[in-house]
Amino acid sequence: MKFTPAPVEPSGKVSLLGLERQALARFCAELGEKPFRAAQLLQWIHQRGVTEFAAMTDLSKALRARLEQTAEIRGPEAVLAQRSADGTCKWVLQTDSHNRIETVFIPEEGRGTLCLSTQVGCALACTFCSTARQGFNRNLSSAEIIGQLWLARHQLGPGRITNVVLMGMGEPLLNFDAVVDAVRLMLDDFAYGLSKRRITLSTSGVVPALDRLGEVLDISLAVSLHAPDDALRDQLVPINRKYPIGELLAACKRYVGRDRRRKVTFEYVMLEGVNDSPAQAKALVRLLSQVPSKVNLIPFNPFPGAPFRSSSPEAIRRFGEILQRAGLITTTRRTRGGDIDAACGQLVGQVHDRTRRHLRLSVAAP
Ligand code: SAH
Repeated sequence: MKFTPAPVEPSGKVSLLGLERQALARFCAELGEKPFRAAQLLQWIHQRGVTEFAAMTDLSKALRARLEQTAEIRGPEAVLAQRSADGTCKWVLQTDSHNRIETVFIPEEGRGTLCLSTQVGCALACTFCSTARQGFNRNLSSAEIIGQLWLARHQLGPGRITNVVLMGMGEPLLNFDAVVDAVRLMLDDFAYGLSKRRITLSTSGVVPALDRLGEVLDISLAVSLHAPDDALRDQLVPINRKYPIGELLAACKRYVGRDRRRKVTFEYVMLEGVNDSPAQAKALVRLLSQVPSKVNLIPFNPFPGAPFRSSSPEAIRRFGEILQRAGLITTTRRTRGGDIDAACGQLVGQVHDRTRRHLRLSVAAP
């Protein structure tokens, strides 16, 4: 196992927010402390939301003083917190002087889902996604990823967040190490104690990283499929040209392994006249017969300059019925938080694009 050194803030202090238990134990060992101090620190930081070492009363005075000198706990800076008419909450977080990301909380009957961003912008260029239009700046650190949960947990209060989805801005599998560290904190009983079934990573299909993920974690998996054949998926999700559907589905099968209760959720954004015909639904049924699957149909959420329209509710219903009749569990995602631009594909933050893609795309847009 390789160890990445603990991140050091501009202040010269080690940032503790993003350290999972083992990394925190190594940090404690460097201070000459026993590894179990890591569990105490995790509870203070993540369960109680304490940022001042002085308040950590079950640590010795000497240790508190050492921590004060060498370490810090800095949560994210929220520049905007909005609440939609339907109860959806969105935070805009300033990650550095150039960049902002977004985090969304979606309350539902009996559960509450927090949608986290993993990158500033996105390096992929899915044509129906407004994050893609923004271009890409950088990966978020594990502290910046878990910091979104930390902030929401302490603003919303205990018991509200029951599920986490890595479905915000960015491609989580292209920020592998930081995402894995953040997920380890979500799973840790001394931090957030979420069960692995209640954490879902959504990917556009970075096949080698998906295999690596299966080696270290077994959280729930969602795959942004969006098309039943390579010709169309090449257009909608360009990473398909590198990892075509056949390879992607084989990797999904490896990920769920032999556990027959586990299923991969395939996300399918409904684009009028593009991927929503009955013939395409039937092709999707044939395709997914090889993998234990569920399908989540997502009405397309428009954004300025988008070259698509959403399928009609009637077309979505018909499409879903074909899947369901073939025995595929199918749900249709309700659009939430549309009035505060918090819906899928509407998260834009503020990205200092380093790829200059936003220029190319704004020229190409109709
Ligand atoms: N990069 C990862 C994580 C982002 S998840 C992935 O691709 O899975 C965001 C989800 O919202 C994906 O399923 C994405 O395809 C979907 N989405 C993106 N833009 C959308 C839009 N305009 N309307 C509806 N869903 C969209």
